[in-house]
Amino acid sequence: MRAAVLHEIGQDKLEVLDDVEAVGFGPGRARIRVRATGLCHSDLSAMGGVLPQPAPFVPGHEGAGEVLDVGEGVSHVKPGDRVVVCWLPACGVCPACKRGQTQLCLAGFMNAGTPNFRRPGGDLFGFAGTGTFAEEVVVDAGCAVPIPDDVPFDIAALIGCGVTTGLGAALNTADVEAGSSVAVIGCGGVGISAIQGARLKGAAEIVAVDPVGSRRESALRFGATRAVSPDELADAKQQVTAGEGFDYVFEVVGRSATARTAYDTTRRGGTLVVVGAGAMDDYLQLNMFELFFDEKRILPSMYGGGDVLRSYERTIALWRAGRVDLDGLITHRVPLSEINEALDQMRTGTALRTCIEI
Ligand SMILES: [Zn+2]
Ligand SMILES: [Zn+2]
Repeated sequence: MRAAVLHEIGQDKLEVLDDVEAVGFGPGRARIRVRATGLCHSDLSAMGGVLPQPAPFVPGHEGAGEVLDVGEGVSHVKPGDRVVVCWLPACGVCPACKRGQTQLCLAGFMNAGTPNFRRPGGDLFGFAGTGTFAEEVVVDAGCAVPIPDDVPFDIAALIGCGVTTGLGAALNTADVEAGSSVAVIGCGGVGISAIQGARLKGAAEIVAVDPVGSRRESALRFGATRAVSPDELADAKQQVTAGEGFDYVFEVVGRSATARTAYDTTRRGGTLVVVGAGAMDDYLQLNMFELFFDEKRILPSMYGGGDVLRSYERTIALWRAGRVDLDGLITHRVPLSEINEALDQMRTGTALRTCIEI
């Protein structure tokens, strides 16, 4: 079957190959025919070595499709069921799962060192234990989460990562207070989802910050009250908060430099939410005086910062009611054969989300 492969970390192009086989089927596993997958910034980060990932590998972790087959002991899905591919399946029995913090379950990462694919040239890994830039993928059955019939595959795919991450940062992690001031730094698909979450919670002011003009325009359509470039942020802080700083600042880039800006843009006693996925060798510097004296809360948000399946259900309910716009997030659509065009659209910032139809 067909899959897009990165041969070595650091390469910027994928090769679409037709000689790939999805491997690892057996008890507790599910084989999925992928129908749609979103391109998330973490795919680029893994390709570039920012996020740890063995190579060669098939990127893609934001997907949806149909179950083709299930292994022994799997009862929650059956062949023909429509599913979201969840890259962070909950084991249900570890301390994190028992507390309801399934976004912190590490069980899914235990398989990360096991190849998900094979081709005549050798074994291939799947990104984050999945690898949805492929016609078929074999995953832990917990990764196959059933979706209602009225949710199209392209929308379901977005729920698999970016939308859950961004909405959850505002709804779960920050729990934005009505009437508050918010800044969102980084307005791709995740940042726009955080903006929609802040709007749902009743934020009075939502300032979108992004260097790309088309993203700033999109942010205004999705609920931002103003949109500025990074060098206009200090002025916006002055105008919106009289210089005090925002009640909430979301860092949706994953770099220490923007996290530092976000910290400085948060008011004393306010909340910095770290959503971006950054590198292990990129350190954020804070001095011990400001940390204590300014009492800013730093809240990291992993995969929406709440129970993953509840987050999916809530997103579907909000989408069905027309309270969040997921359709509008998909700005580009390409077949898998044009995956490299999709990568370019993400790098140049012209896409909020590119849906790859498989
Ligand atoms: Zn992602
Ligand atoms: Zn667990």
